[in-house]
Amino acid sequence: MINLSASKLNLLLDCERCFWLVMVKNVKRPSGPISSIPIKMDSIIKGYYNRYRGGILPPILNGQVKGRLAVGMPLTLRYEPFKGVFLQGRPDDYVEQGDENVVALDNKTSSKAPPEIHPSHQLQSDIYSYLLMKNKYKTIPRAYLAYFSPRESDVDEVMTLTCSVIEVCTNPDRVDSLMRKAVQVLNGSIPYPGQNCPYCGWIQSLAKFPMVG
Ligand code: SF4
Repeated sequence: MINLSASKLNLLLDCERCFWLVMVKNVKRPSGPISSIPIKMDSIIKGYYNRYRGGILPPILNGQVKGRLAVGMPLTLRYEPFKGVFLQGRPDDYVEQGDENVVALDNKTSSKAPPEIHPSHQLQSDIYSYLLMKNKYKTIPRAYLAYFSPRESDVDEVMTLTCSVIEVCTNPDRVDSLMRKAVQVLNGSIPYPGQNCPYCGWIQSLAKFPMVG
C-alpha cells in the first residue's frame, strides 16, 4: 500500500532520491526543533472559525472570501486513484459558496502575506481540489489561503492578528500524472540526487574523512 500526501508529493518534486528513501527505506531528512507557536495559533484560529460556523462568515475573512464556512465536511479527504495507491489531504477548513460549491481554505501563519504563492502551497491546493472532485463534492478549481500575521504591538500589549487571503486557481489535472510519477519512482531503484541540493555531494566528501582523528 502506498500512502501519498501533499508533503510527500512536494518531496518528490524536490528530490526523487529523498522521496524514495523516505517511502521505501523510511530514512527521513533530519529535522530540527519545531516551533509550537504555529500549532497554538492554528488552534486559536480554528476556535474563532467555529464560533461562526453555520452562520455568517468570520468577520476577519469579510470581503476576502465568498461564501461561509461549510458544515459537516470530513477532516480528511482520501482517494485511491490506482489499486493500493492512496492520496489523502486535510484542509484546515472548507468554504461553501453561494452556488453550493465547496472549496478548501487553508490557514498559514507568517509575518506578512507572501507576494506570490509558494509552489508547495500551490500543490497542496491542487490536491485539495482534486480530492474534493474525486470524492464527488460539487466544487470548482479554486482554494483559499488565509495568511494570519500579528499586528505591530509592544510586547506587553495584547497582540491581535490581521488576515490576508489569496484566492488560488488550482490545477487538479496535474495530480494524476504526479501520482503516476511517484509510483514509477517507487518501483524503480534508488534515484540520483536532485540537482538543487548540495547535501548528497557533501556527504560523499565527508566519507573521505575518518570518523575519529
Ligand atoms: S540531494 Fe539532497 S534532497 Fe536529494 S537525497 Fe540528497 S540530501 Fe536528500
